[in-house]
Amino acid sequence: MKPILYIVIPCYNEKDVLPITAPMFLEKLNFLISSEKISEDSRILFVNDGSKDNTWDIISSFAASDKHYKGISLSRNRGQQNAILAGLSEAKDNCDIIVTVDCDGQDDLNAIDLMVDEYLNGCEVVYGVRSSRKSDTFFKRTTAQGFYKFMNSLGVESVYNHSEYRLLSSRVVEHLLSFKEVNLFIRGMVPLVGFRSTSVYYERYERLAGETKYPFKKMLALAFDGITSLSIKPIRLITFLGFIVAVISIIGIIWSVVNAFIGHSVAGWASTVSIVCFLGGVQLISLGIIGEYIGKIYLETKQRPRFIISERTDDKNEK
Ligand code: UDP
Ligand code: MG
Repeated sequence: MKPILYIVIPCYNEKDVLPITAPMFLEKLNFLISSEKISEDSRILFVNDGSKDNTWDIISSFAASDKHYKGISLSRNRGQQNAILAGLSEAKDNCDIIVTVDCDGQDDLNAIDLMVDEYLNGCEVVYGVRSSRKSDTFFKRTTAQGFYKFMNSLGVESVYNHSEYRLLSSRVVEHLLSFKEVNLFIRGMVPLVGFRSTSVYYERYERLAGETKYPFKKMLALAFDGITSLSIKPIRLITFLGFIVAVISIIGIIWSVVNAFIGHSVAGWASTVSIVCFLGGVQLISLGIIGEYIGKIYLETKQRPRFIISERTDDKNEK
């Protein structure tokens, strides 16, 4: 039996790039079908993440033009991570394997062939890993690579230079969806699911059209979610910092008492002020980090739905 493949593609305000990339996805799917690697029932599933432009109309007209295109629309913008999750949950019961990929043509689609080959060889998780970061700006490259290293040092298992381009078997998706957290960082969660995994390497290009939907603020928020949802080491660091400050303080106290006894004590205004400021800063940062986790606990306990699907391109469109 040939596996049924669904390609899940999150789209947010992508009216410029979708008309260019949608045919590229279809071409790839048709190629895989005709080379008898995947079933004819395979589909391309666009997830419209509450776009404010006419992305949904574009998706609907693609779905009307060819039965291999499908789409779902979220009731509002929920961010790429939730959009991917919505696509995964929509697709998992209809297929054997799912590839998630961005819709802007940055990721070389030929890697899908390699991913499917790896699946046929028995791997249920195949990470797409960039072979280089030439197409990134210097800023994005340094911050992104620094972030991977930082994550690893915090004990979070994540694949270096891998973002949201991957193949998962429907069994893995089923288990991934049983992770109920609302603070999502999918690329940190997939390794936690386990199963046999491997990586394939691909070239990452420039976006084919349109603007990035990840301004610095959103990137930072994702990085924060990644760290706080997968590691509690920052809280431990605070305890560690507390110990160091306490040790330094004890030395300082001994030093000042000794000085007072041998009569060297001078009016130490500057040193007092700097110590007070330093401790104030340390305490505020520590409170902030603890607060971040408490905020996350608050959001998790609410158990709000991670996405709401408002529309589907009707299967009646099938030709
Ligand atoms: N995206 C989304 N919801 C958002 C932001 C982005 O679904 O709120 C999608 C976007 O349409 C694209 C993918 O996530 O398919 C990656 O976004 P983008 O290419 O803008 O990010 P970059 O590659 O610049 O990091
Ligand atoms: Mg992109």
